[in-house]
Amino acid sequence: MTIADVDAIVIGAGVVGAACADALSARGLRVAIIEHDIAGGGATAAGMGHLVVMDDNLAELTLTAYSLALWREFVGQRPQRHEYSNCGTIWVAADEEELAAARSKAHTLSTFNLDCRMLTPAELYAHEPQLRPGLAGGLLVAGDGLVYAPKSARLLLERATHQGAVTRRARVTGIDDHAVVLADGSRLQARHVVLAAGTGSRALLPALPVQPKKGHLAITDRYPGFVRHQLVELGYIKSAHAASGDSVAFNLQPRPTGQILIGSSRQFDTTDPAVEPAMLARMLRHAATLTPALAGLNVLRCWTGMRAATPDGLPLIGPCAARRGLWLATGHEGLGITTALATAQLLAAQMLGESAAIPYHPYLPHRFS
Ligand SMILES: Cc1cc2nc3c(=O)[nH]c(=O)nc-3n(C[C@H](O)[C@H](O)[C@H](O)COP(=O)(O)OP(=O)(O)OC[C@H]3O[C@@H](n4cnc5c(N)ncnc54)[C@H](O)[C@@H]3O)c2cc1C
Repeated sequence: MTIADVDAIVIGAGVVGAACADALSARGLRVAIIEHDIAGGGATAAGMGHLVVMDDNLAELTLTAYSLALWREFVGQRPQRHEYSNCGTIWVAADEEELAAARSKAHTLSTFNLDCRMLTPAELYAHEPQLRPGLAGGLLVAGDGLVYAPKSARLLLERATHQGAVTRRARVTGIDDHAVVLADGSRLQARHVVLAAGTGSRALLPALPVQPKKGHLAITDRYPGFVRHQLVELGYIKSAHAASGDSVAFNLQPRPTGQILIGSSRQFDTTDPAVEPAMLARMLRHAATLTPALAGLNVLRCWTGMRAATPDGLPLIGPCAARRGLWLATGHEGLGITTALATAQLLAAQMLGESAAIPYHPYLPHRFS
């Protein structure tokens, strides 16, 4: 197949674009992926890779729970290829108010048949002895896990390639009806164009309701067993869904290498990718208030990434009226690794008129038009 005769062009080979290319080529469509940089090197490489069920609203819960089931299937019998771990998440409750939030979360997740249980303080410390004394308890969500997302993106692309997809290294500079324009001036046509360019999407469609939310992360040397679950404070939810201002939240991840990945921060109104010492220090200090021994560990590397955030925190998955034949798969904010596989299935179902496993209307782009 040459790039001149494809059914669908996917712009961007992050985890979302790679998943879309995989899902479309699996259905027999001839797919071309256009990526101007390293596949999986955008937000996908910057993220934590936490596969997490989030329940801020029914649409978010439905999408994350569905996608986690797809991840477990994909990772299957070869978890090492994804550096997958089924570590689960412990939501840490500092006080009675957060414990009440944990109970409410447990109730919601249970109604979705998701495996979770409340932890007393004694159980919390038995699971995670490094947590500071005096915490009120926690909630263990057993089905959550983690992957090394750039690797998973490459595995999705590999599968898409086996299914006939082709990849081209080029920058898309414009989108027309049923076509894209490349930096060298050439024009590629296809019945479908899928915009999956993460925070790069708005440069191609300036009216898109997506803004960058900057995040910092840090990774330590190897300390196997220091923590065993992804540890997240209940207060994280407030930080994750703030619509303005800078914030940090405690989010600690045990990498399968024994390293500890430390997050996270959120900042609006900046596209500067530089690590900001003040923000990084604030994030690390906050993490050490919940796990004091963290202060003595060796941090090897710090970096930042940009999340593509929509006003309501839900992704844009579906047709876009701005151009004929244009589809969106973007705006996944801090959950794009988790929700990539479900996104791809919902997009493919809409494109091919199939019935989808979950309702797709909450994520349709025209909700903002
Ligand atoms: C600090 C941080 C922590 C995170 N933690 C998690 C987490 O634990 N769990 C989770 O689920 N999510 C997490 N996320 C969110 C997740 O990383 C993103 O939602 C997800 O990676 C988005 O994937 P994507 O494919 O849409 O975008 P990207 O990975 O950014 O991919 C877009 C691709 O498009 C390409 N591109 C852009 N413009 C063009 C163009 N004009 N022409 C050609 N190619 C183009 C880019 O080079 C890039 O490769 C985190 C994000 C950050 C920043």
